[in-house]
Amino acid sequence: MNTILTGVRVNEEPTLGNFLGAYVPMVNLSHEHAKDSQINFFVPDLHSFTTPVEHSKLYDLTIKGVKYYIAAGLDVDNPNVHFYRQSRVPAHAQLCWILDCFTPFGEASRMTQFKEKSAEHPDAITVGLFNYPILMAADILLYDAKYVPVGEDQLQHLELARNIAIRMNNKFNQELFTLPAPEQEQIKFMHLKKALRIRSLTDPTKKMSKSAENEKSKILLSDDPKQAAKKIMSATTDSEGVIRFDMINQPGISNLLTIESLLTNRDIQDVISDWAGQTSYGDLKRKVADSVMHFLSGFQERVNAITDDDVKAILEKGELYANEIANNKLLQVEKAVGLYK
Ligand code: ATP
Ligand code: MG
Repeated sequence: MNTILTGVRVNEEPTLGNFLGAYVPMVNLSHEHAKDSQINFFVPDLHSFTTPVEHSKLYDLTIKGVKYYIAAGLDVDNPNVHFYRQSRVPAHAQLCWILDCFTPFGEASRMTQFKEKSAEHPDAITVGLFNYPILMAADILLYDAKYVPVGEDQLQHLELARNIAIRMNNKFNQELFTLPAPEQEQIKFMHLKKALRIRSLTDPTKKMSKSAENEKSKILLSDDPKQAAKKIMSATTDSEGVIRFDMINQPGISNLLTIESLLTNRDIQDVISDWAGQTSYGDLKRKVADSVMHFLSGFQERVNAITDDDVKAILEKGELYANEIANNKLLQVEKAVGLYK
């Protein structure tokens, strides 16, 4: 069986963009491969503070993040689905150290995300931020994961994990690690032609981001549904005066049409035809606001029905499984590098 592995960073409240662009596709993938793969969902909680976070909120966000996935439709009763916290599986940090010693400094220094993030947080450039792609390699290689659905920004890190695996397999002359599939195969596996980008409500030329400061730019999954509807009503549009799907000239309207189609599970072309030629942006906003409100109420109801104890039981079960697999792999690596016979 192949292993599909995905990490869910929960250092801030996720947005509707995260939900539609990451949660839903991941859950769909887990249904598609329910029988033919091991499906590992993990909370990369050790990655959470590679950039500054509010530590007092981290634990609750971790628990909530798991609830969001279940409310999005993840089948946690499937025996092939495993949900665990990275920090509860010590082998991640242990393997990371070993991989560190097989990663040339120059190669790690080429990671563009480190360059970008260190420019964003010039006062808080830690060794952790530099080292996190290698921890990510450990997250993947410990479980022999072949498919790791990630956003574009993570493809370089995935390539690094692949290179580390190739190097160590060659050096120790054995198949220590399964190689993660190369970039093109990963993209094909996700059925993606083009990644989805939900836009900011206040500046639709940019994507909706959970770390954006302007609260009106984003719908949080925890937003009060009525407040969220208001954000849609005040979304930035344009002065063309006619409803058309045109990401270049009418990104705000196109974004609303996209959100409407995804939330109502309808083909985007059908939604576009429904509105073709209409001129009232207010009508469109009311319809989308209604869909957002409807979605959030139902979603939050499902989230609230899941207790912290349910989540802890799911995590503890997943962590037993993960520790067993990860410790076996770690031991194999420790033997290869000469720590044990
Ligand atoms: P940050 O502002 O902290 O970078 P983010 O909203 O970009 O937060 P990430 O944690 O970087 O979220 O990404 C989590 C997942 O959500 C990734 O798979 C990413 O591709 C996806 N994602 C993020 N924003 C959007 C969006 N606006 N539309 C679609 N998918 C998105
Ligand atoms: Mg991002």
